[in-house]
Amino acid sequence: MTPPLEHAYRYCPLCGGVLTAKLIKAGEPKRLVCGGCEHVVYLDPKVAVGTIIRMEDDRIILVRRAIEPGFGKWVFPGGYVDRGEEITTAATREALEETNLNVRLLGLINIYSYTGRTPVIIVYAATVVSGVLRHCDESLEIRHFSRNEIPWQDLAFRSTQEALRDYFDGHLYCHGFQEN
Ligand SMILES: [Zn+2]
Repeated sequence: MTPPLEHAYRYCPLCGGVLTAKLIKAGEPKRLVCGGCEHVVYLDPKVAVGTIIRMEDDRIILVRRAIEPGFGKWVFPGGYVDRGEEITTAATREALEETNLNVRLLGLINIYSYTGRTPVIIVYAATVVSGVLRHCDESLEIRHFSRNEIPWQDLAFRSTQEALRDYFDGHLYCHGFQEN
């Protein structure tokens, strides 16, 4: 579960004053408030994006993580969205960085978030446009898998499992995405 609020940040990023958890508004969570300048530090979600990339043989690409969390486990390519970056741009950027493939997004599979957890994970389906499959230094290996070959017991995150199930169950919101 979520650690106590004070464990997130101790000092005000504006003035260096000590932060304390306070109830500012009834019905809302406590917020970290600076004792010096009264600045409120909001602990926002972090937006992550992933792509499930379909190969010509209908297999999909997974990478085995070389970093924590989830070291040694399998996940589809993805990462955090930078501030000011369009989600779809982040999706294709992360796919290129982690697989060396230029991909085209086919549609949105779903958005995944969990009580007490920081990330909000947006997952797209994609197809390969160009490039030669190669893993990056954030992964130990890269492979493609058919549905029956997916290492379900060895996936990195709950969102990995849920998005893969949704993908293979045919969940796809294609509105606004280019056909074929
Ligand atoms: Zn302050």
